[in-house]
Amino acid sequence: MSEKIAIHWFRRDLRLNDNAALYHALKSGCKVIPIFIFDSNILSKLENRQDARVHFIHNTLQKLKSELKHLKSDLQVFHGNPLEIWEQIIDKYHPNSVYTNMDYEPYAIKRDATVESILAGKNISFHSFKDHVIFDKDEVLKDDGNPYTVYTPYSRKWKLKLNNFYLKPYPNEKYQNAYANFSADEMPTLEKIGFESVNVSFPSETVDSGLIKKYHLQRDIPSINGTSRLSLHFRFGTISIRDKAAKALKISEKWLNELIWRDFYIQIMAHFPHAMSSAFKPDYNRVIWDNNTAHFKAWCEGKTGYPLVDAGMRELNATGFMHNRVRMVVASFLCKHLLIDWKWGEAYFAEKLLDFELASNNGGWQWAAGSGVDAAPYFRIFNPKLQMEKFDPELKYIKKWVPEFGTFDYPRPIVVHEQARVRCLEAYKAALKPY
Ligand code: FAD
Repeated sequence: MSEKIAIHWFRRDLRLNDNAALYHALKSGCKVIPIFIFDSNILSKLENRQDARVHFIHNTLQKLKSELKHLKSDLQVFHGNPLEIWEQIIDKYHPNSVYTNMDYEPYAIKRDATVESILAGKNISFHSFKDHVIFDKDEVLKDDGNPYTVYTPYSRKWKLKLNNFYLKPYPNEKYQNAYANFSADEMPTLEKIGFESVNVSFPSETVDSGLIKKYHLQRDIPSINGTSRLSLHFRFGTISIRDKAAKALKISEKWLNELIWRDFYIQIMAHFPHAMSSAFKPDYNRVIWDNNTAHFKAWCEGKTGYPLVDAGMRELNATGFMHNRVRMVVASFLCKHLLIDWKWGEAYFAEKLLDFELASNNGGWQWAAGSGVDAAPYFRIFNPKLQMEKFDPELKYIKKWVPEFGTFDYPRPIVVHEQARVRCLEAYKAALKPY
């Protein structure tokens, strides 16, 4: 090809519209070749050959490919170690520049730095953009320049800083002529990359405004379809955070607050990557866990004898989703009632959740364990029975997921609430006592 070539590298931004890096690539004066890499470093860690997230990505790439074909372009999909794949891309397309949206996970930061230096060695420029969040880690800081570790003042500053500039969509559609006219190789099948298709229905990427208007009233009731169910789409960028934050600003401050939690945890991950593998507050690494494997199995399978916990775990196992209120209850139950290391629960969620996002999952788990930023204090121990009476008083959610509840087939509680509470307080106190 005689024209200058820019590559757009899709990752967690799987859409053509309102996409920051893609917009800059299209405007750069080069012809744009869009690519995606199934990263074998990530895929090889997934144990389940029927991982629904891989299926979701595959479906979405097929959709993107056909949209691009409509525009007389294409999508080139690779599978392998990104560092080796980049050598192939350079040989194949001789790009002048590479555009991508920032990914804030520790692995991605390291990978991107290596790719950038490979490209720099060949005089190819690398441009990365903010797209996944409204504010980057250094855009909302305390007055002294340090990052916030408490949500409420962070959210206050976040809202003060927000204006239309940050919500404006990127008009990618104006520059569609800049896609390169090329034919990509055939996309690898799911089987080729080591996976199988799964029979799940993915949540829709649209949400009714009426639901968001009533969000503040219904968000805590798991039997109601009262939350957006957009988390999978935020995760993979099949929707734009700017578009949804603009909607939230107009119709629901409560919902906007949830989107701010997402930014909050992502900036925590970017500033404090150590917290992704150990307690944010190091004293909590001293808790001596019971780690009873039979209890862990009962928790995973939804057979603890605590109906709200069991309903949540069965919802997760069956659908890849769990309502936020119930996530808080099951997480607290694992760390506090069963005294099992929060990292075990975090890993189980990471395997099962369709919307698994390292920053939010780690944030949620460390919140429940008490070890995280702005976490629930260790002595606040949810009573799963009271939570059930408050948030599922008619047992609608529980009856849906635990139909045998109330019969002799339902298991007896694996721990006694009051004893578990006392044991937990002792274990935490011992870990946190000053030396
Ligand atoms: P809505 O209530 O409609 O909220 C809109 C969006 O805001 C969500 O889609 C999500 O992107 C964001 N959001 C909402 N609550 C939170 C929160 N507490 N922290 C960060 N972002 C939030 N969320 C994930 O996206 N991925 C995870 O891996 C994840 N793991 C969690 C683990 C635990 C232990 C807990 C307590 C929470 C976790 N959450 C996680 C947060 C929350 O439960 C989900 O985002 C929410 O249930 C998704 O449903 P929804 O899309 O209907 O959310």
